[in-house]
Amino acid sequence: MKLFGSSGIRGITNKEVTVDLALKVGLALGSTKKNAVIGRDPRIAGGMIEHALISGMVSAGCDVMRIGLVTTPTLAHAARNFDCGVMVTASHNPSEYVGIKLWNPDGMAFDSAQQEEIEEAVAAGNINNVEWNHIGNITTGSNAVREHSEMILCNVKQVHVTIMVKTAPLRVVLDCGCGAGGTITPYLLREMGCDVITLNAQPDGYFPARNPEPNDANLGLLKRAVKEFDADLGIAQDGDADRMMAVDENGIFVTGDEMLAIFAGYECKAGGTLVVPVDTSMTVDDALPDSNVVRTRVGDVYVAEEIKRTGADFGGEPSGSWIFPQVSYCPDGIYAAARLIGIVQETKLGELRRRLPQYPTKRGTVVCNNEKKGYVMDMVRSELETLGTITDIDGVRVAMDEGWLLVRPSGTEPRIRITAEARTGVDELYDVGEGIVKEALA
Ligand code: MG
Repeated sequence: MKLFGSSGIRGITNKEVTVDLALKVGLALGSTKKNAVIGRDPRIAGGMIEHALISGMVSAGCDVMRIGLVTTPTLAHAARNFDCGVMVTASHNPSEYVGIKLWNPDGMAFDSAQQEEIEEAVAAGNINNVEWNHIGNITTGSNAVREHSEMILCNVKQVHVTIMVKTAPLRVVLDCGCGAGGTITPYLLREMGCDVITLNAQPDGYFPARNPEPNDANLGLLKRAVKEFDADLGIAQDGDADRMMAVDENGIFVTGDEMLAIFAGYECKAGGTLVVPVDTSMTVDDALPDSNVVRTRVGDVYVAEEIKRTGADFGGEPSGSWIFPQVSYCPDGIYAAARLIGIVQETKLGELRRRLPQYPTKRGTVVCNNEKKGYVMDMVRSELETLGTITDIDGVRVAMDEGWLLVRPSGTEPRIRITAEARTGVDELYDVGEGIVKEALA
């Protein structure tokens, strides 16, 4: 039974993710761990799933500390003092979703082997109920937000030594999207000396203000507010604040590829390593000619695993997940916001954007039955091999001097996704990819 996707267990409340499932996951987890810390984002079903998980864990003898409504990076930071961390969150998904994500003490999400162990225990009903006098304790912790904030402030001050002595504070519009970010980010940015104007800082599981995903289409209010208030930048987070995106001083959304190149420019040492997913723009490669850029499968957990394996300086996903390994392997949308403020104190975000090389990109899909995907991808591989350097960790990516082409089967839909980026002739390059897929299907 496959419970975990690349972002943990996630699905529609009371249909795919139920109290019964949460209880079984709690029992399975509690059978292998002595203690755990648990938190939740503001999802309507958060309390329900949290209680079921806790009942299962303590019934199997595991002590549980509750830290309440927190962001995912706050929970992952708190997990350093426990055998594991449990976050009840559906991240950037719409209101009807809920989910469970499990964390190791170093801020790394459970890997495939750890997830399979839980799946097998749940499937086998292989559960270890303990005697009445060995059930776990349930306690409440109240320091997690404070400790996470202090860790961030301490790190940011070390990087940006001048930040607290600037006379003119930066004006920042912060859109928490009614997610968990409202529990920490406004206070932290004010402690850094910023003039903070908040939007949607009240956590609300109905997400009444906007869809929780912080993409260009969902941030119209933030873009307008940055201009109206004459702010230096705008910051947006997703429902559990592991993701962060930004708007520059002109109210223009900074794309994920731009954000990745800007952070990497500050984080990566000469000769150091940067980890990004296969669909990341070559803007990143061209902006960081002295770095070794490593590409992984799409998914922040794969980026985190590769950062750990290679000892990379930095890594991220253009969706808004930024991983600073000196702080944690968990993407941290609060640390990223604080770090960006330090950067913008020195140089305006619009100026940083203008310095980056920009290339046209074209994306599209071709409908393809799931059964045919394997055959089509074999054909794609043999054709693209003749064009340049192949990377086949997630679909097939071919890199040439003038650009790159990625052909990738969708994991969830009957489609093949095609992405092309080129210095010149992006339409022709895209047509090459589409032509190969269509010919294989004919
Ligand atoms: Mg998230």
